[in-house]
Amino acid sequence: MAPSSTHTEITTIVENEEDYPKLVAPQAAPRKYDIVYFNLLTFGYAHLITLYGMYLAWTTATWKTLIFNHIIFMLAAVGVTAGAHRLWTHRAYKAKMPLQIILMVMNTLAFQNTAIHWVREHRMHHRYSDTDADPHNATRGFFYSHMGWLLVRKHPEVKKRGKFVDMSDIYANPVLRFQKKYAIPFIGTVCFALPTLIPMYFFGETFNTAWSIAIMRYVFNLHITFLVNSAAHLWGGKPYDKNMMPAQNLSVSFVAFGEGFHNYHHAFPWDYRTAELGNNWLNVSTKFIDFFAWIGWAYDLKTVPNDVVRSRAARTGDGSNMWGYTPRDKTE
Ligand SMILES: [Zn+2]
Ligand SMILES: [Zn+2]
Repeated sequence: MAPSSTHTEITTIVENEEDYPKLVAPQAAPRKYDIVYFNLLTFGYAHLITLYGMYLAWTTATWKTLIFNHIIFMLAAVGVTAGAHRLWTHRAYKAKMPLQIILMVMNTLAFQNTAIHWVREHRMHHRYSDTDADPHNATRGFFYSHMGWLLVRKHPEVKKRGKFVDMSDIYANPVLRFQKKYAIPFIGTVCFALPTLIPMYFFGETFNTAWSIAIMRYVFNLHITFLVNSAAHLWGGKPYDKNMMPAQNLSVSFVAFGEGFHNYHHAFPWDYRTAELGNNWLNVSTKFIDFFAWIGWAYDLKTVPNDVVRSRAARTGDGSNMWGYTPRDKTE
């Protein structure tokens, strides 16, 4: 009998990852999408309110409410980039307790699940990039990698291989354990209740306006993170590794606080700058970490030497412009 599909029936208990077939990107086996209706409804609601919030932002909301929400937007974004991403997932630098707490609260403002959950998914994203074990496999296109993956049940490969991701450092982190333990009341208060109540009590906003603008801000935060998974995996040059999907995307870096230098990031995920550029004006998250390094709360910042970057580019790059680190090089 000839093999009829790419699916493998697992009939024995598999303990080691090596016992599973190796996944080579880009890879996406045919699949049936099992929609999670709760997520579809909540996402749909949040996006409708976002449209309404945009209307209220132009017509009714006070400038104080808008500035307040913009500040939360920036804090939340950096809570994802400098916190969940660079510190906790990639361990690209170390942070003392006060900074861990600040980042956890900022990360809570963004509510992208708990940071513990986020780290597991992102470690899988790097380990199995653009295959079925990557939670937001970009091989399935823009919409799936952007937000579609959150509207359907996880691919079986994600469930199967999730247990091979080492999470011991994360489970040992008391700050992240706190966020997970009190997730519903804590995230509910920090991300939604306070950002609604503060404009009501201090800026004289109605509940309707304060709530709609808060939800709009939350949805904007989600989409800038989503763009790193979608646009930065689909469009851009690949000066460091032409054999992968992640690419250098300047527009994404602009909106995502310095996280669009994605070909570099997948080539050198441990660099705390998430970019070859270092401290440039797009990389707000790097400036944030540098500030805390200056006062001593961030330390052991990891970077990649320029000659290592250059030799990787010569070996596996596509020859496209390394606009990233050229200016710094020229001064050397
Ligand atoms: Zn990626
Ligand atoms: Zn990453």
